[in-house]
Amino acid sequence: MSNKRKADTQVPAEESDQLIIRPLGAGQEVGRSCIMLEFKGKKIMVSLDCGIHPGLSGMDALPFVDLIEADEIDLLLISHFHLDHCGALPWFLLKTSFKGRCFMTHATKAIYRWLLSDYIKVSNIATEQMLYTEADLEASMDKIETINFHEEKEILGIKFWAYNAGHVLGAAMFMIEIAGVKPTRSPPMVHIFMKKREDRESRFTSLVHDIVNRGGRCLIPVFALGRAQELLLILDEYWSQHPELHDVPIYYASSLAKKCMAVYQTYINAMNDKIKRQIAINNPFVFRHISNLKPTVGYNADLKQIDQLGRSQL
Ligand SMILES: [Zn+2]
Repeated sequence: MSNKRKADTQVPAEESDQLIIRPLGAGQEVGRSCIMLEFKGKKIMVSLDCGIHPGLSGMDALPFVDLIEADEIDLLLISHFHLDHCGALPWFLLKTSFKGRCFMTHATKAIYRWLLSDYIKVSNIATEQMLYTEADLEASMDKIETINFHEEKEILGIKFWAYNAGHVLGAAMFMIEIAGVKPTRSPPMVHIFMKKREDRESRFTSLVHDIVNRGGRCLIPVFALGRAQELLLILDEYWSQHPELHDVPIYYASSLAKKCMAVYQTYINAMNDKIKRQIAINNPFVFRHISNLKPTVGYNADLKQIDQLGRSQL
């Protein structure tokens, strides 16, 4: 393979200017995002994201990295902390021949640590099938460098900088410039919203209002971290505007969300203008109407605690 690759570097000039984009995951599927860019006759290789497939486990969940030589990748840029974009990272940084450099934003790195630790805990597979351990995750932290939004870096002639992508805290779109050519931004994260944001928010809050008005309890399972913080923010603001709801408590039952909340409270400068304006008055992530449930073991215990709290309000 390496002999063949050496031969491949003898490419005609016009061919060497080709940019090759190869999805090693997330092509015609959702999950294990990992896009390879090859430019200048394979001399420069950039990888965007290194996620896992959420529906698969162990080695099956990895991007198709056997199609490339990890040691030929110069640069690895991570767009955001969701598992389908960075869940394979500790494995890739520690268990392959990769010796390039890896960047993400500060907020992404802070939440990556908590989110992957939680992933290790909840992965219900045999230890020998695990892609990495807590110790590997910890070791990967030393190999990850951070970048601020709009800060320009240059590695081996590859210039790159990050834009705030919205989506979740710390999420970045990368502009990459190789040899004076700007070939790409990182792939857009998939967001297909049918309705305007305000419509969706008010449908959500009026639904919750209706339920609690009728004496009901509202359980909201939130799959993605980031989305949980967003919903809490919406509910806290809505509660502030509706004093008649103040005797209805809101709880969140996630020790992961609790840990990550500290990061949300810190990286306000990475958020939108509305949040930044609000911070001048008070930190919107220090909720006034929401509290955290005591740590419990398992979903049923959480439900029991919610039920008891609900009864004590009646
Ligand atoms: Zn995402």
